[in-house]
Amino acid sequence: MMQKIHEINIQWPWLKILLLAMLVLGVFAGVMGGLKKEVAERTNEADSVKIEEVPTELLEPKAVGVKGYKESHEQQKEALTEPEPEPEKEKSQTEAEAPAAPPASAVAPNSGRKVVALTFDDGPSVATTPRLLDILAAKRVKVTFFVLGYMAQRAPEVLKRQVAEGHEVESHTMSHQNLINLSGAAIQGEVRSVDVVLQGAIGRPARLVRPPYGAINDVVRANVGKPMIIWTVDPEDWKYRNSATVRANVVSHAFDGAIVLMHDIYDTTVDAVAGVIDDLRAAGYEFLTVEEMAAERGYVLQNGYSYGSF
Ligand code: ZN
Repeated sequence: MMQKIHEINIQWPWLKILLLAMLVLGVFAGVMGGLKKEVAERTNEADSVKIEEVPTELLEPKAVGVKGYKESHEQQKEALTEPEPEPEKEKSQTEAEAPAAPPASAVAPNSGRKVVALTFDDGPSVATTPRLLDILAAKRVKVTFFVLGYMAQRAPEVLKRQVAEGHEVESHTMSHQNLINLSGAAIQGEVRSVDVVLQGAIGRPARLVRPPYGAINDVVRANVGKPMIIWTVDPEDWKYRNSATVRANVVSHAFDGAIVLMHDIYDTTVDAVAGVIDDLRAAGYEFLTVEEMAAERGYVLQNGYSYGSF
């Protein structure tokens, strides 16, 4: 064997050099190939990263859009919250959280009229409401009644008279439950049931809802399905069963654009109304229904929002 190799060495001395050169070339080619492969793999990596990035980049403007919408919606809601002019003791349960009026730009400039809306809850009552209607007719004043469905069922003739004499009739729910304790479906039921009663008695459903206790949360907002009207002047006539006190409380707290809360189920309140009208008229106020006052001040009432003044 060794002899054979020695013979090859002698006969082809250049063979060793050739083999060595081939070895060197082979190693070089191998190294270059490996490098090429690595570069190729890195390029592929970069490509795959790019492929993943493309849809992300395409999605991003969308994501920004959604965020932008949310922010502008939040800002709108902020703009909808109006300052509360009433003292602490008269605040309703909604005031800390309730978005109220539309943006200021949508509101018409004040016409210069001093206006106020008298509103009456919890009726109609066959015992007390007709006497109130007599007083309002004598004084030529139009008001807004937020009626309870179960009361309206018992007094459809009073309801018809309210409408016939130009008053606004709206909903105070079917059974006066605190809506923030109810499910969305139950809230819808409270609203729908009154509408059925109103439809039967006066031929139309309510356009506005006054939630009992002024209690509103996000579930109420989402399910009530109509604009909500609260109030900014509350004489607490349910507590002060004294017509002089009720009259003084209303007149001392009234302001331009205020919504006044009273209850037409108390004789003492009915007794106070003529004096309230006389005093506010003497102070330059005109009386509008809630919808009239909203229109007067350029408000477009939106479902799920609440309003305490215009
Ligand atoms: Zn009530």
